[in-house]
Amino acid sequence: MDPLASFSEIDSARKTPGGAATDKVASARELIAGAIREFPDGLAILTSFQREGLVVLDLVLSLAPHTPVLTIDTGRLPAATYDIIAAVEKRYNTKVELITPDSAEVASMVSLYGRDLFEESVPNRMLCCQIRKVRPLDRYMTRNPGISAIFIGLRRGQSDTRAEVELIDRSSEPARISAIADWSAEDVAAYTREHELPEHPLYAAGYTSIGCDPCTRAVTAGESERAGRWWWESETDKECGIHFTPDGRAERAVDVLLREVLSNTK
Ligand code: SF4
Repeated sequence: MDPLASFSEIDSARKTPGGAATDKVASARELIAGAIREFPDGLAILTSFQREGLVVLDLVLSLAPHTPVLTIDTGRLPAATYDIIAAVEKRYNTKVELITPDSAEVASMVSLYGRDLFEESVPNRMLCCQIRKVRPLDRYMTRNPGISAIFIGLRRGQSDTRAEVELIDRSSEPARISAIADWSAEDVAAYTREHELPEHPLYAAGYTSIGCDPCTRAVTAGESERAGRWWWESETDKECGIHFTPDGRAERAVDVLLREVLSNTK
């Protein structure tokens, strides 16, 4: 099957109730196999070791055991994340590659705005994520142009902002493949149980979404899956402020902060 065609065909079949692709595990495997055919030497798994990421990792490594496994080590991860990394390395006989921020950029940001700047405002939080996550990943991909596509563990049901996640997103480089985009949390839990996958220890403490230590908490009954992320921000606060330059151009507040951090970086 033409792998390019297979991505869109599988996606439309999954979105159609009663469509042909009723077995989600089989169709996820089919999608991954198509990606392996299309990008035989250019694939990687990017995961933060949540349940979804581990399902994707298990599916991919069962078909292509030598696929590199990457994670972004922001410098603010909970200690338990290193435990799950060790468990994954042991089970899959692999070495997880840690993508880390530029220490000079972090030092500049902390000297200007403090280590816990994300508590102050949404632009500050976005700045911290830029310095600790976005820019390190961009740099890594620039240094590794052979990576054409990455497997990620997004699901459409995780939040409104993920409702339109595509199985394969070619709008960015590398392409992003969300092989379990249409799975439910129950599908993920069932696969985790059936295949006895390792689990991040914080799930047992009531977490449903796991990221950096200071920006993630356990949720209570009735809260959404992502309610434990940046919980101090209201939905309206999460809009990033827009600033205007002297010549009238609009720019995001986070871009202003980022420019200050970079000009202060030694
Ligand atoms: S999640 Fe929090 S600590 Fe982690 S990079 Fe973003 S703002 Fe910084």
